[in-house]
Amino acid sequence: MTLLFHSTNRMVDEVPVGIALLQGQAGDKGLFMPNSVPQLSAELLKRARDLSYPELAVEILWPYVEGTFSRDEIEEICHSAYDFEVPLENVTGNQFLMRLDQGPTASFKDFAARFMGRSLGKLVARRGKDLLILTATSGDTGSAVASAFLGVPGIKVLVLFPEDEVSNRQRKQMTTLGDNIATLALPGKFDDCQALVKQAFSDSDLTDLNLSSANSINIGRLLPQSVYYTYSASRLADIAGGEKVVFSVPSGNFGDMMGGMLAMQSGLPIEKFVIATNANDEVPLFLETGSYSKLAPSKVCISNAMNVGHPSNLARLVSLYGGHMDEVGKLTKPADMEKMRNELFAISISDQETRATIKSVYENHNTMLEPHGAVGWAGMMRYFDANPSDITAISLETAHPAKFPDEVRTLTGCEPVLPPSLEGIEELEELYGELPVDYEAFKSFLVREYK
Ligand SMILES: *Cc1c(COP(=O)(O)O)cnc(C)c1O
Repeated sequence: MTLLFHSTNRMVDEVPVGIALLQGQAGDKGLFMPNSVPQLSAELLKRARDLSYPELAVEILWPYVEGTFSRDEIEEICHSAYDFEVPLENVTGNQFLMRLDQGPTASFKDFAARFMGRSLGKLVARRGKDLLILTATSGDTGSAVASAFLGVPGIKVLVLFPEDEVSNRQRKQMTTLGDNIATLALPGKFDDCQALVKQAFSDSDLTDLNLSSANSINIGRLLPQSVYYTYSASRLADIAGGEKVVFSVPSGNFGDMMGGMLAMQSGLPIEKFVIATNANDEVPLFLETGSYSKLAPSKVCISNAMNVGHPSNLARLVSLYGGHMDEVGKLTKPADMEKMRNELFAISISDQETRATIKSVYENHNTMLEPHGAVGWAGMMRYFDANPSDITAISLETAHPAKFPDEVRTLTGCEPVLPPSLEGIEELEELYGELPVDYEAFKSFLVREYK
């Protein structure tokens, strides 16, 4: 059985996962979504807690990739990609922190990037045609993708980043690799980088470059991000008996949260998704008012990987609730807002509240958060302020505190311990190009370097 994927714009043919992965964005500028979400069987819900992370990933991902990869291939992908811990930390009462920061680049983006690097590596080898991955990053996608694709034959990666909005460590993680990984600094915002990348995808002059995307417009980002929701819930609640949990997801482009939505659609019992943004509050406002306008320019916040003024996954969210949003953010068919408000609690958290949260969670519970995880935690606290209960709740910590040492040190008085993957990075030599925020300049660069 091969599951097919359609575009949210519904103007191109349905395709199997291999094609969706290679294309990134659909030809009609829509986003690929599975025609149906494979259901977690009662039997899998029951034994999920006994499976290791990679074993569970195989079970969850198999129905999406069957027909494109063999069972052996998906096993190899998952076992080599997920060879690190996924700690579930009890912070207080029934409230937990899921640390998704133990991968090689110390952010949750490793979960998707490592799946994609391995999957695309296999698909490109099979097809025999090289691929150029274009990726815009607000900080962590670039390093995760660069690390996951480093040395993969047949694939080149070009990462665009806003020069003033990524931290030193984030930048060094992607500019020091070399080999098939190139990087470009732009004097703009993440949204500017993303706009250039999107324009290149729809430029017919560039078709023969075989462009693809590793941004969360690629469905390959979302599928693996659905696994850790089921993993954590299976260990902390009786999911086979229908016990529900609350998740809190610090969100920017809403790829992480869409992974969670897939988990919910697959039958994981979830009471509520708290979606916590920083001051870029266009989605909380959308939920509140039912009308959407993007924030341009996006606001600069300390949780820099979430400085997104027009989240690329919003069209997917709208489509899950029966509506249609086109690629520029125009709602052409309304979504079921009542259902959405029932299932989601969206909240915007200021930098001030983010900092206060890092400080108080450290002082009260001896748990170290970084700015993104703190936005998630603060959002969860706001949810429980409004809806007191002792239901099991899991907040996602999406990066390692050592990626944001200055903020964390100032607020906790404690130096976050560097994970082994970040050690020695300060001394490595950096290499990156620079371009203005200008499509013609970007296009000439692509033609010159890659044609
Ligand atoms: C990318 C990122 C986010 C936001 O994830 P989205 O899928 O874009 O919502 C949150 N935290 C960190 C550390 C990130 O790198």
